Amino acid sequence: METDCVFCQIVAGDLPSNVVAETDRVLAIVDIDPQAPTHVLVLPKEHHNDVGSVAAVDPKLLAEMIETGTGIAENECDGEFRLVFNTGRDAGQTVFHVHGHVLGGRSMQWPPG
Ligand code: AMP
Ligand code: ZN
Repeated sequence: METDCVFCQIVAGDLPSNVVAETDRVLAIVDIDPQAPTHVLVLPKEHHNDVGSVAAVDPKLLAEMIETGTGIAENECDGEFRLVFNTGRDAGQTVFHVHGHVLGGRSMQWPPG
């Protein structure tokens, strides 16, 4: 756990969250500032900075995150969703504990902004 990481604090139960799904290693929570009818963050309970890091160190954990997000989208938005991993500040990453944004429930534009 990284004590100054907001998602580590959520995993530890030190900050509140709205949990949608949970496995031994993965937590899925509703985004505090939702950008779509479904906006869930899928994150590993252990701290990794970004998607490339978790892919390199523990690809099974990344697969479990994706499976969890896919299951949520099947429940909430007929399995039609966008899965976004912002990586780096210029790409919009603000929390440096890897998380996939599961976005769905409305039509989306391409390219993203
Ligand atoms: P990113 O900008 O890709 O790093 O995404 C961070 C996301 O975390 C944003 O969509 C925020 O709205 C969301 N967020 C930040 N703090 C919390 C929190 N305490 N609970 C739930 N979502 C949060
Ligand atoms: Zn963390």
